[in-house]
Amino acid sequence: MIPFLDLKNINAQHRQELVDACANVIDSGWYIQGGECREFEKEFAQYCGTKYAIGVANGLDALTLILRAYKELGIISDADEVIVPSNTYIASILAISENNLMPILVEPDLATYLIEPKKIEEKITEKTKAIMPVHLYGQTCDMDSINNLAKKYNLKVIEDSAQSHGAYYRDKRSGNLGDASGFSFYPGKNLGALGDGGAVTTNDKILAKTIRALGNYGSHKKYKNQYKGVNSRLDEIQAAMLRVKLRYLDGEIKKRKNIAKYYLENIDNDNIILPTITTDSVWHLFVIRTTKREELQKYLLNKGIQTLIHYPIPAHKQMAYQEWSNENYPISKSIHNEVLSLPISGVQSLSETKFIVDTINDYLKKDS
Ligand SMILES: *Cc1c(COP(=O)(O)O)cnc(C)c1O
Repeated sequence: MIPFLDLKNINAQHRQELVDACANVIDSGWYIQGGECREFEKEFAQYCGTKYAIGVANGLDALTLILRAYKELGIISDADEVIVPSNTYIASILAISENNLMPILVEPDLATYLIEPKKIEEKITEKTKAIMPVHLYGQTCDMDSINNLAKKYNLKVIEDSAQSHGAYYRDKRSGNLGDASGFSFYPGKNLGALGDGGAVTTNDKILAKTIRALGNYGSHKKYKNQYKGVNSRLDEIQAAMLRVKLRYLDGEIKKRKNIAKYYLENIDNDNIILPTITTDSVWHLFVIRTTKREELQKYLLNKGIQTLIHYPIPAHKQMAYQEWSNENYPISKSIHNEVLSLPISGVQSLSETKFIVDTINDYLKKDS
């Protein structure tokens, strides 16, 4: 069986370094807000090219705290609107609702699956305060157009970089393409911890300070609470794991790019639409589209190839957002009905990739 993502093998590559790093934390006697977290924040900010990185508990918190900080700073207020792609993972949207803000869904481009700037402008109102581009599946959005719109209408740009660690747009990396960016280090992300983790990156000093305080009970200084904050911190063990894995991230991306290149050059089946890349992708997911998705998924599973669907139900069809159940997002609808994610990771061998390609190419072949 070729698993969709072999996390055990991915982490086994660095087993000794991870074990040593973990032992260092155990022996240090300091488990929250210590040296590992500070060093990781420095290293991750440097990797992204930003002035600041703030470790938080997970990716959802990273996005939630950015919006919360803008509210505390008086830049965004209750019931203001935040534009977000309709086909994103629900966490992007939850971060907006959680802050009593209004998510405004904008449809993606069908070829790239990324939010379409032309459609953003149609949805901008007096209440719009921010755009949240999601670099979905690892490909960076059309940031020139998005930043131009933000400038024109005085909006904040909050990147959801949960799937795009290391991806470039022109000469800058994801995390450094807007006003602030939220990252997830969920184990299955390209940069994954061995538990939950997240970070915010930004070049805005005041925003960075506010987020750091909000995630620490609203406190800049111990026992002095400026805000009604939360507890959302990156713990020392996860920071230590991430410091090890950050050193291998560019290698992981390179291997993923090679697999994606092989898929793009060799998958040849009239029933299948391959992904379109117009910027740069770190290939968090390799997503194909077909009207015969359920059949193809079953066929591949029978041949020993595990695939997943990202995502089977769009946010506006979820129980959690019943208020949107009558809204229509036809592009999202066809994406959610047709997408299928193929296995891809730094531990996938060329023979496995070849087997996947050959199996897909044989699917519904006329002479078989
Ligand atoms: C994973 C993910 C998140 C949430 O990150 P968690 O660490 O799981 O909270 C947010 N947005 C997108 C696009 C994601 O893929």
